[in-house]
Amino acid sequence: MATTQEIKEMTQASGSVIKQMSINNHEQVVFCNDNEIGLKAIIAIHNTTLGPALGGTRMWAYNNESEALNDVLRLSRGMTYKAAISGLNLGGGKAVIIGDSKKIKTEALMRRFGKFVNSLAGKYITAEDVGIGTKDMEYVKMETNHVTGIPESMGGSGDPSPVTAFGVYMGMKASAKFAYGSDSLSGKKIFVQGIGNVGENLVDYLVKEGAKVTIYDIHEEKLTECAKKTGATVFAGKDVYETDMDIYAPCALGATVNSDSISKLKCSIIAGAANNQLEDENIHGKMLLDKGIVWAPDFLINAGGLINVYSELHGYNREAAMNNASKIYDLAGSILRTAQSENITTIAAAKAIAEKRIEEIGKVKISF
Ligand code: NAD
Repeated sequence: MATTQEIKEMTQASGSVIKQMSINNHEQVVFCNDNEIGLKAIIAIHNTTLGPALGGTRMWAYNNESEALNDVLRLSRGMTYKAAISGLNLGGGKAVIIGDSKKIKTEALMRRFGKFVNSLAGKYITAEDVGIGTKDMEYVKMETNHVTGIPESMGGSGDPSPVTAFGVYMGMKASAKFAYGSDSLSGKKIFVQGIGNVGENLVDYLVKEGAKVTIYDIHEEKLTECAKKTGATVFAGKDVYETDMDIYAPCALGATVNSDSISKLKCSIIAGAANNQLEDENIHGKMLLDKGIVWAPDFLINAGGLINVYSELHGYNREAAMNNASKIYDLAGSILRTAQSENITTIAAAKAIAEKRIEEIGKVKISF
């Protein structure tokens, strides 16, 4: 499989979207544009072997189109793995809307986006992600039924973030059990980077268990508010990655685990909610293995939100969703042990399980 660097080089050399899609065998990419409303979006469908492609919509002020395309391709592929490893009958997809959500997001923009989602006739089902909230999903819902994570008042499951945070907490505890012999997080120095919808809920669990939690976010007001509410300590140092910590929980954006950060990190575990934490899964997965840092695969431990919205498709039940998310604990433990016994990276061990399921179910499907 091509490394991120190789993909970048190939894309720059060819300038071809289809060539970029073919690297990880994406099925379909849809470019959406509306000059009047100011909507520029990309929907990527990676693989629909297990079911319709479900994945959130991210709104972000990308520097250019190729950055947005790269992100949506990476994120949609991650969703394929996330659904497969979690035993869900879903494929992998994702959408990005290009622009600053605080400046250009309107009802019209979200409804126009909803029309594009509808045009895919259920092959892609959307939900919220960074920069998008439940209110936005209400607007999308006005134009399409292929949407999840809508407000409870409209019969949906609401914000999936609390379930995601619970799953991350389960994955972190399983990692602690593997690394320290006990899953107690009491007294552990845990650094949570990104105090958004998921980070904030995760901090709650950690503080309640008696962990020594340090928090950091680029938005100062979120930090102050969270510190006041939970008693967590606000980061006051210069370099996040040089901080003294046992566990690093990346809960902001992806690619924070890279050559630079790994060279500085002194933690024994990385377990967080952010998607695509490893800048390059081959290079940085191996660097973590060599350095003896336990990395809990992101697409496994942050699957709680997907598990939650999947449940919405079949008649929502919060208790069942939480119960399913709690299974992340056993699965994470088993993957960490497999990686250790086979001396492979944790991402390789997790991907092998997901790929095996897709391959096997693919064979079932071709029989009718
Ligand atoms: P969010 O937008 O609510 O929060 C993200 C937070 O990260 C924001 O407060 C932002 O200010 C902060 N941030 C951005 N850049 C930062 C930086 N460089 N340093 C520190 N903080 C920074 O998003 P969320 O819903 O909490 O999701 C967090 C991550 O988890 C994302 O990567 C998302 O894709 C992933 N994820 C979320 C869910 C979910 O259910 N919400 C599910 C799976 C994965």
